[in-house]
Order: sequence, then C-alpha cells, then structure tokens
Amino acid sequence: MAERKFEVMSGANPVLPASKDACVSCGCTERVNLYRSHLPGSVEMRQCVGCGHCAVMPMVDRERLLVYYRETYTDSDYFYAAAQRSAGAYWCKLQKHFPTGKFRMLDVGGGCGFLSDRVRRERGADILLLEIGNAAREHARDVLGLRVAEGFVEDFQTEERFEVIVAVHVAEHVADFRRFLASCRELLVPGGRLILLTPDAEAWKLEWLGKDWAWAAPEQHTLFLSKKSAEHLLNSGGFEPQTIRALVASMGGYPWLVTHRVSKWFTQRFGRGKSRPGGGDASKADSQDGIGGAGRTGLFKRILRRLRPAGRVLLWAEYAVLTTLDRIIACGRKSDELLIVAARRENAPEAAD
Ligand SMILES: [Zn+2]
Repeated sequence: MAERKFEVMSGANPVLPASKDACVSCGCTERVNLYRSHLPGSVEMRQCVGCGHCAVMPMVDRERLLVYYRETYTDSDYFYAAAQRSAGAYWCKLQKHFPTGKFRMLDVGGGCGFLSDRVRRERGADILLLEIGNAAREHARDVLGLRVAEGFVEDFQTEERFEVIVAVHVAEHVADFRRFLASCRELLVPGGRLILLTPDAEAWKLEWLGKDWAWAAPEQHTLFLSKKSAEHLLNSGGFEPQTIRALVASMGGYPWLVTHRVSKWFTQRFGRGKSRPGGGDASKADSQDGIGGAGRTGLFKRILRRLRPAGRVLLWAEYAVLTTLDRIIACGRKSDELLIVAARRENAPEAAD
C-alpha cells in the first residue's frame, strides 16, 4: 500500500511511453498504471497525466460485460441491501436537480428501482427504469410496480423522449463513455438534464490506495471520470455542464477501508446468501467488488447476527474517521463521489475523432 502511494504520488511510477490509445477525453498519450484490472481482456487501470481520467486498457469486451450484468451482478442479497440503503442518500443529493413540475425520467441502470420509486413518490414523475440485470428489473417491476425496460442505454431504442436521465453509479461500468453520452443525448428532449453520480478519478483514496480503494473495484469498474474529463466529454458530446463537483460518499455505499476488508474476508469464507423479496436462485452471489462469493451457509448468517452490534460500531467509527479525513485531506474537493449535472444542447455535438 505504502509503495503504491509512493509510486503514484511521487511520479516514480514511470509514465508509460506514448501509445496510440490516446485518452478519450483530452487526447493525451501519457499514462500511469494504477493497478491491474481483473476484467476479462483488460490489463491495467491507467490514469491520464493530462486530465486525470482513468480507464482500463485495453477496454473490456462489451459482450462479456453484458452477460455478467444481465445474469449475475444484481442477483444477490448484497446488491439489494446496498441499493436499498443508498436510495435515501441518493435522493438527498440529487433532489434539488430534479425539476419541480411534471417530467418524464429515464433511470439508466436503475437497479432495483428504489431511487425511481422515491422520485415518483416525491415528484410524481413518469419514470421508465432501464436495467440489464434480470433480478433487479424484476424487483422494480413486480415489487415496486415501476415501468421497466431491459438493456444497456447504448442499445436502447424507443420513441419516448425524457426531460431527465439519471444514472447513479453506472458511468464507471460502461465500455464506451462517449457512446453512452451520445445515447443519453438521443433520448433527452432539447434542454433535458443528465444527472450522474460516479466515483471520482481524483479521490485521494484512489491516489493513495490504488486498488485497495473500495470503489476501485478492479473486477467491475472500467473508467473513472475526473472533473476535467467529465467537463470535456460533456462539452464535446453535446452537453452544457451545469454542476461538476466532488461529494462525500454517504453511509449506505461508502467506500470503506476496514469494513470493506472485513466484509470481503467474510464473503470469501462463508459466501453470501439471498432472501430478498422476489427471490431468485441461490446459486449465484457477488461481492461489492466482483464475481466472487459462493452459496449461503447458515453459519455465515449466525455469525453475522452475533457480530451485528459490533459491526455497527465499527461502521460508524470508520465512517466518522474517513469522512473527517475526507474533509481534512481533500478539503471537500477530492472526495470519493462526483456529481455531474448537464443540459442537452440544442446543436449537434462535435464529430468524435
Ligand atoms: Zn486525458
């Protein structure tokens, strides 16, 4: 860990020779390796020296991502619980960016539908939830009664147009962010609003801890936007950036250090069960960071139940320490999460190179 910090922060990690794969944001060809990617076909997570944008190299095969997200990613108790825990905090962060009158909203990668449900209740919005994960989509449709569609936004065809597109913790999973933006633009009415929450490429924890940052998630995450790269990609993609700022992550989905490790150890040792409403088969489970995890054992649940009070204390203590560090080290400017709000411009975007 210490070595990683030294390498990245001192610049001792050699800047890679100029490659033909220029940064999608600024075109710079100089990168530093942050850590090994575990995504199939990808080798490294690399950070652009010019704008701080991070992306796996080579970019992962989109078809493989599709299979993973459709069948595995959302099909676990962990995913369900984390989505439920985080929805309230997401609502608090985003509510002032939703219009006040009637509006149509597309929730891209909307998971189990908890945020959509909240927006519908609070604002009476007409919502379509787009989700590739079968288990999450079924929950949104059958339990929450949301209107749902299946797929990645990049392939999604509809006559409908929306005043708002929201994508919470989705951008860091996409294979081609320019294409993602172009598809969102296509689905928005002129002047429509794009709202993204995503891990911040300039987070101090990424810089210091590399893959040990919980949101590095080398088994899942393909890219991290920096403020600079978000601004550039939005501008060149036909959007007018309105807000781009770093936020302190909320309790529900916080990128923990100690808690993350303890939970990973438990998952590897005992697996993770599933008993959420809507069910599903118990043969698959995933961890926060990937595809690991086996079937449930009763032992896991029993141990967890006993350790719950201690776990709560640990959670709150770590949250207090880390968010304090967020404020001291980052002065609120380099925290874990990036909030991005942009308006769709009337005129067509520049041609992509
Ligand atoms: Zn760049």
